[in-house]
Amino acid sequence: MFEFKILAKSISSKARVGEFSTPHGKLITPNLAFVATEGEIKSITKEVLPTLPVNLIIVNTFHLWVKNVIQTIDDGRSKVDDEDRSSKIENNQSSILNPQDLSSTLYPLLSSFSVHDYVNFDKPIMSDSGGFQVFSMGFGKAHGVGKITNIFPQLNVGYPERAKRVEGSHYDQGNPLIINENGVEFPFNDQKLMLTPEKSIQLQQQIGADIIFAFDECTSPLNSYEYTKEAMERTHRWLKRCIKTSQINQKRSEVGKIRNQNNSDKSDISDLSDLSGIRLPISSDLSGLSERRKQALFGIIQGGHYEDLRKKSAKFVGKQDVPGFGIGGSLGRNKKDMHQVLEWVIPLLPDEKPRHLLGIGQVRDIFECVERGVDTFDCVIPTREARHQILYTKHGRVNLKKMKNVNEAIEIDCNCLACQSNVTMKQLSSLFLLKDPRAYYFSTIHNIQFFTDLMKNIREAIEIKKLSKLKEIYFKFY
Ligand SMILES: [Zn+2]
Repeated sequence: MFEFKILAKSISSKARVGEFSTPHGKLITPNLAFVATEGEIKSITKEVLPTLPVNLIIVNTFHLWVKNVIQTIDDGRSKVDDEDRSSKIENNQSSILNPQDLSSTLYPLLSSFSVHDYVNFDKPIMSDSGGFQVFSMGFGKAHGVGKITNIFPQLNVGYPERAKRVEGSHYDQGNPLIINENGVEFPFNDQKLMLTPEKSIQLQQQIGADIIFAFDECTSPLNSYEYTKEAMERTHRWLKRCIKTSQINQKRSEVGKIRNQNNSDKSDISDLSDLSGIRLPISSDLSGLSERRKQALFGIIQGGHYEDLRKKSAKFVGKQDVPGFGIGGSLGRNKKDMHQVLEWVIPLLPDEKPRHLLGIGQVRDIFECVERGVDTFDCVIPTREARHQILYTKHGRVNLKKMKNVNEAIEIDCNCLACQSNVTMKQLSSLFLLKDPRAYYFSTIHNIQFFTDLMKNIREAIEIKKLSKLKEIYFKFY
C-alpha cells in the first residue's frame, strides 16, 4: 500500500509521471485535487459526482469538525469530542489535549463513518490537517492576506495599506489565534476550540481519507525570519507527534482487530500500555487494519521564503518515516519566490516519494511546479471561479459576463455535459442572471473537465517528452 512508482521522467526538468497506490485505487500523477471543503464540491450533487472526470478530492478537517459532520455520523467517536466541547463550554476554557494523555483519548480506529461514502466518491481522497486555518484565521487574517488569489500580494498595489491593520509595528504581533507548543486555540462561535497534532490526526482518522496531512503552522509572507523559524521548528515537533499518534492508533487498531478475531486468547494483547514506544515502518503489514481505512500521512515542509529554513525543513521532514510530503506555508511574495522555494526544497526530498503543493493550482503555476517536481496539487480555483462566471478554455479564461450575447458553446471539443449538450454562453449567462442552479452546475462541470484534461495532457506530454511544447501552447492564453 502507498507505493509510489515513477512511470516516466522528463529529461529537461524534474517533471515526472507517477502512480501512487491508495486503498481507493491508483492515483496517476501529476494530478489535481478538487476541493470539497465540507464533503461536497459546491454546485455538484453527490449523485452526479461519480459521473464526472474527477480523480482526486480534498476535504477540510477543520470544517468537517466544526460542522459536526464527523460527530453526527460516528456515535462511537463523537463522545470524546462532545466531552471535549462540553468541558470547554462549562469551564469557559479550551480543552487542551496533553500528548501524555493520548492513551486515554484514542478512538477505536475502525469507524462507521467513511468520507468516501459521505462524499459518494470511490477514488482517492485527501484531508488537510487544519494547518491552513492556522494561517487563514490567524496571521493571514491579521495581515489581510487572503487564501489563493492574493496569497502573493504585490507590494505596490495597496498591500502596505492592508498590512497596516496589524496592531503595533511588527507583523509577528496581533495573531487572533493562540499558538503554543501544545497546539492552536481557535475562537469559534463564542467557544474556544483547541486543535493539536494529536487531535488533528484523530479527526483525520475519523474522516478516513486515503492521504492525510500532518498538523502544521502555516505562516504569513509578512512574518519575520525569527517567527518563521520558530513556527517551522514547532511544526517539526508537531510532525513527530502526528507520526506517533498515527502509528499508535494504527497499532491499537491492529491489536483490537486481532482481539476481536481471537477472543479466546487475550492474554498477550490486552495490555496496550506499551504501545507508545512502538515505531512502525510505513511498509509494515498492518494486517488487522481494514485495507480501506489505511492512511498515508504526509509531512509538511515549512520555512516561508527563507532559503536556510526551507532547506532545513526539507531535510528534517524528508528523513521522517512518512510516505509523502506536502509543501506548505508562505511561498513568498510573488511567483518567482514560489519557484525558488520549490528549487530549494525538492532536490532535498527523497525522489521515490510523492510531493504535494498545498493550495496552488493556476494553469501557469501547475506547469511551473510540475517542471520543478511537484506531483499533486489542490486548489479551489476551478470550482470557485466557475461560480463567479469564469470559464477555463484552451483559448484562455472566459468571463461570461462579457459573453452574454454570444450564441456559441463554451468550447466545441470539450467533453463536459454542458458543451456536449450545446449549452451556449448566452444561455449560461441568462441562467446566472436568474441564479438558476444549472448555471453553477454547468460552469463547474466544465471547469472540472478543463483541469482534468489539463492534467492528463501534462502527463501524456511528460511521457512523450513534449512538456515544454505543451507549456508553450497553454502559455499563449494563460
Ligand atoms: Zn465543457
